[in-house]
Amino acid sequence: MSKPDTPYRKRALGDRALSPETLMMSYGFDAKMSEGSIKPPVFLTSTFAFATAEEGAAYFRIMGGKKEAGDPETAGLLYSRFNNPNMEVLEDRLAVFEGAEDALVFSSGMGAISTVLMGHSKAGDVILQSTPLYGGTETLIRSILPQYGISSADFFAGASEDEIRKVVDAAMKQGRISVLYCETPTNPTNEMVDLQLMAKLADEIGERQGHRPPVVVDNTILGPIGHKPLELGGDIVVYSLTKYIGGHSDLIGGAALGASDLMLPVRKLRSGIGTNLDPHTCWMLARSLETVTLRMRAAFEGARKVAEYLRDHPKVKRVRYLGFLEDGSRDYEVHKRQSGDMHGSTFAFDVEGGQAASFRMLNALKVAKLAVSLGGTETLICHPGSTTHAAVAPDLQERLGFDPGMVRVSIGVENPDDLIADFEQALAEV
Ligand SMILES: *Cc1c(COP(=O)(O)O)cnc(C)c1O
Repeated sequence: MSKPDTPYRKRALGDRALSPETLMMSYGFDAKMSEGSIKPPVFLTSTFAFATAEEGAAYFRIMGGKKEAGDPETAGLLYSRFNNPNMEVLEDRLAVFEGAEDALVFSSGMGAISTVLMGHSKAGDVILQSTPLYGGTETLIRSILPQYGISSADFFAGASEDEIRKVVDAAMKQGRISVLYCETPTNPTNEMVDLQLMAKLADEIGERQGHRPPVVVDNTILGPIGHKPLELGGDIVVYSLTKYIGGHSDLIGGAALGASDLMLPVRKLRSGIGTNLDPHTCWMLARSLETVTLRMRAAFEGARKVAEYLRDHPKVKRVRYLGFLEDGSRDYEVHKRQSGDMHGSTFAFDVEGGQAASFRMLNALKVAKLAVSLGGTETLICHPGSTTHAAVAPDLQERLGFDPGMVRVSIGVENPDDLIADFEQALAEV
């Protein structure tokens, strides 16, 4: 929502636009309204008192889209399923970071993704998706949404424009394409989806069917510092805040960001089905945003060192790190255009000798922790084929380029030399 330029929502110092790193410590919070408290208190309340009965009636008119002349610009605080001061501080700051008009937060990344997809689709529609997606998103689109009459069509993340066009033509015979959904880079194989191409296809589909499907991009892996999909062709960005933005593996949350008109149906559905985020987790996330750039930069730098070490190790077949994409390849060009030299800290590598060899290495690691998830301060490692992607059929795993010895690591902010020493001793066990 375009917010009034109140003193606590100033984004510039004179002519100088302030950067997100600076705004994360103050934006959207007025200390004077909370006893001068430097940090926002946690507003543990379910409901908010109206000054008058007329004010309550006006807020509910605004919420229901029935604003009358003389009503305030936006609804005030109502009830914590709809809004809450901690929710609003977090949403304002996320919107600043992503360069979005509006942001909404959810009880999990899947809460955000399901509310966006359902808010923009109706029975008979088709969701056009890149694959592979996060496992939970694949299950949502392929097994859950069909129960509500919403089907899907998919293309490989690395597919050519011609191949994707064939999928579009076939999908349009199935029904109206409601959303074009993608994840880039893919997890765990680090392939790229070209967002410029997605925007072009969305325009063309819009002309042919009279509804332009928004391009929705899951930005969990590189955002918010390494990748700005809204500037590259995306219309809506979704996040698992559980990962880099929360950053400490101690909470679950999600977000959706984009233009206010695209957020409107999503906001309505969130209020309707209650996928909102609680005030305490919102407070934790606002705190995490103060250090997200520092943490991500440190993790990215550590990952580069570890990836370089692994590349030269005789027991490692292949390291799927974004910094090693083949110069001149399609993925290289798309990655350079979309993320420059930001290569992230989550990547997969293939241990020589298949699953048994990779399990021996995993069991021998002492610093890196054996767990799914990513983006925390600690290094986490897992075997996707038997854990996060266990539900992906073996033949599809093969088509997606999974190697039986492939492991995925999310580098944290430990001293990278300690991590290298840990891999050195664990690989010696293979
Ligand atoms: C973890 C993750 C999700 C799901 O988020 P939750 O917070 O676990 O619901 C979605 N997309 C990606 C890329 C993820 O890594």
